[in-house]
Formats: sequence, structure tokens, C-alpha cells
Amino acid sequence: MLPINGADRSRDLPLRADAVVIGGGIVGVSAAYQLAMTGLQNVVVVERKQLGAGATGKSGALVRCHYANPPETLLTLHSLRIFTEWEDRVGFGSPGFEPIGFLQIVAPEDEPKLRANVAVQQAAGVETWVVDRQDLRDIEPLLRTDDAAVAAFEPNAGYADPNATLYGFAEAAAAHGARIFTHTPALSVVLEGGRVVGVETVSGTIETERVLIAAGSWANNLLAPLGIDLGLQPVRTQVAIFRWPAAVDPRRGHRVIIDAVNHSWLRPEGRNATLIGAERSVGDIDPDNLDEGISPKAIATARDVLAARLPVFHDATMRGGWAGTYMRSPDGHPIIDRAPEIEGLWLMTGDSGTSFKTAPAIGICLAEWMTEGCPRLMDLTPFRASRFTDGEPWLDATAYGDDRVLTVSR
Ligand SMILES: Cc1cc2nc3c(=O)[nH]c(=O)nc-3n(C[C@H](O)[C@H](O)[C@H](O)COP(=O)(O)OP(=O)(O)OC[C@H]3O[C@@H](n4cnc5c(N)ncnc54)[C@H](O)[C@@H]3O)c2cc1C
Repeated sequence: MLPINGADRSRDLPLRADAVVIGGGIVGVSAAYQLAMTGLQNVVVVERKQLGAGATGKSGALVRCHYANPPETLLTLHSLRIFTEWEDRVGFGSPGFEPIGFLQIVAPEDEPKLRANVAVQQAAGVETWVVDRQDLRDIEPLLRTDDAAVAAFEPNAGYADPNATLYGFAEAAAAHGARIFTHTPALSVVLEGGRVVGVETVSGTIETERVLIAAGSWANNLLAPLGIDLGLQPVRTQVAIFRWPAAVDPRRGHRVIIDAVNHSWLRPEGRNATLIGAERSVGDIDPDNLDEGISPKAIATARDVLAARLPVFHDATMRGGWAGTYMRSPDGHPIIDRAPEIEGLWLMTGDSGTSFKTAPAIGICLAEWMTEGCPRLMDLTPFRASRFTDGEPWLDATAYGDDRVLTVSR
């Protein structure tokens, strides 16, 4: 059972902590684990509801290194090692990682971009290569291929169980001394003379010199009072589950696919169903009043788009679905940084719907930064918050389609 303090929080909440993490999603809990591993004695996580109450609990949890830029490829590559070596690297629970192979499908006109991206990924150490139409049919016999000349294949990629991954990190963090308080909203980060001195919560104030805000779609509530406006927008997105029709061999299933032609991503869900996300996210919602259900229109779109890539699903039975929220940054890339001009404050925000897979490495980088003064695992400069105020938003020249920021991809 997870050692999480939710019920009797006023008695347990410490008066002082070496570090406070705000947010019990995958980023907050991964960072708390890594902070505890550095030897900090008193790491505290405060979560406003239950663990996984934000994007993490609803995530598709695709884990693939195929990006149109080196920094996110590298973050995923480092994370992939943690997913695959979980027993040695985390040692508690299981992420439920299924390395069943991943295909990135693009329109024929995007072939040069795909080839360029795969070359960058190979140079970074990712096992991946370009496949032609015949290879595609061998790798994934259910696939419609007449509208795609080539694809990228990543045999070691796959998907995980987002909640199991979160619980594994939480258990590991607690085993190394971190304390996790659910149903404990942080009300504000307390400053004195431009430095962090504490976190005010509903159950009292915790004195601390180090705070990480990993509050997902709710980050603006904490950032605005500090005068930080990063142009972040909480968005809502829907996913649906379809039962495999009889034509799908349950012993074989299918691969994980991101389909840039039909703007969708899909992967197996359980032993006989497919989870698909096919909708462009709807922006600027109120995450406190999120409608967690799926609309008939989204179900119809999901079925059409699924059948457009895997035709055997043309009249598949819908088995469920949900809506989740994540936080979008203005350029669709995460912000991982020390807060400008506030000593002792770090941010991981604007995940833009892609930060489940990278969270294990983000946790390592943040823990290094918060305890040693800089991230050692890799350079996080591209993720800096100042890129917006400097007029240098992060645009990938080799992203697919015309709409380089909002393309559906996980
Ligand atoms: C439908 C869907 C599918 C996705 N699919 C993928 C995918 O396939 N692959 C991938 O890599 N990514 C995917 N993502 C994105 C991924 O899930 C997120 O990027 C990731 O979960 C973000 O984690 P987080 O910890 O930053 O935020 P969250 O999981 O949102 O966690 C933030 C937490 O902070 C808490 N909180 C907020 N304010 C406070 C406060 N004041 N005090 C205390 N606690 C607070 C919230 O309750 C929440 O639990 C998907 C997202 C969605 C919604």
C-alpha cells in the first residue's frame, strides 16, 4: 500500500522541508523520487486531490523517441532507459511498459522531414529506421498504406500504464523518505526579498528554500500571484476506446501508431481494445470544471480516423472514453526552468500533452538542478521560459503538416 498521507493531514504536515513539490502528477512525483535519491532528508509533495488527478491519470502514455527536435528526443531516450530498467532504476511497482514497437506515419510530402528526423534520432542513439510501404505491411499487416510512402519504425518504443508508473514513483519516493500529502492544495508560494521561504497550503505553511511547481493545468493559479505570465492555456482533449473486431488477432494486436495524415495516435488498451486520440484540443478551459466525458461527435471522429488507418475497425464497438486536460505553452513545447528572478523556485509547466514519456528524465534533471545548481543529465536551455519574452519561440522546422504547433501527437 502507498504510504500517502491524505486523511489526517493537519497532524502530519511538517513545518519545514528541504524541498516542496507542488503537484502529484508524473512530473512532481518523479522529481520527488529523484530529490529523495539525492539524499535530501525531508522532501514533501502536496497534491490538491488524489495522485494522478490531472493529465497523468488520463494519459495515453505513449513512449516514443520520435520527435522533430533533439532535446525532446534525448529526454525520451533517457526516460526510455528508466521504463525498460525500472526494477534497477526505481525498484517499486511497475510502469506496465509494453515495448511493442512504434510507427510514425506521415503524408508523402513529409518524407524528407521524416528522413531528417530519423537521422537526428539515430545520431542521438535511438534505435529507429525508415521503412517503405512493403516493410510497413510486414510490420503492421492491419495498416492502410496507400496514402503513406514511408514511415519511421522504433521497435523498442511502446506505451506504459500512466497510473501504475505514477504509483511506482510515489512508492519509491516514500521509501526514500519523501512524504506525499494528497487533498492538500497549495495556496501560494511564499517569498521574502525575492527568495522562496515557504509554501502556504490549506493545512498550514511549510517553510522551505526550494519549491518545484509541477501543477499541470492549474499552474497559472500559483504563477499569477508571483507576477509570472507564460501565456499558458489549460486545454481539454478526448480519447475513445474501441473493442477489437473479430478480424484483429488478439495474440498479435497492433503496434503503437502516430498518424500525421489523419491527426491521431493509437495504441492497444488492455488485451482486446484500442485507445485512440483523434481530436485537436480545445483551449482555455477551466480545469476545475472539466467535463470528463466524451461527446458523440468525438466518438464518431475517433472511429472514422481509426478506420482510416486500420480499416478493420470500420464498425468497431465503442467501449468507453474520457476527456482530460493538459497545459499548453504558446509554442507547444514544455517549459522546464528555474523561475526568472525568484531564488529557489523551479517550474515544469506547459507540458503541451507530451510529457508523460519524458517525466522520468525531467525528474532527474530537476533534482540535479535543485540540489547541485544545474542539470547534469542534459542541457535544458531549449526549455527555458525566457524564449517567449526573447521573441524566440521553439519551432521545429521538421514538424509534420502545416500546423506545426497544434498537430495531434503524443
Ligand atoms: C488524454 C491525454 C493523453 C495523453 N497522452 C500522452 C502520451 O501518449 N504520451 C505522453 O508523453 N504524454 C501524454 N499526455 C500528456 C501527459 O499526460 C502530461 O504531459 C503529463 O501527465 C503531465 O504531468 P504533470 O505532472 O506535469 O501534470 P499533471 O498530471 O496534470 O499533474 C499536476 C498535478 O498538480 C496538482 N495540482 C495543481 N495545482 C495544485 C495546487 N495548487 N496544490 C497542489 N496540487 C496541485 C493537480 O491536481 C495534478 O494532480 C496526454 C495527456 C492527456 C490529457
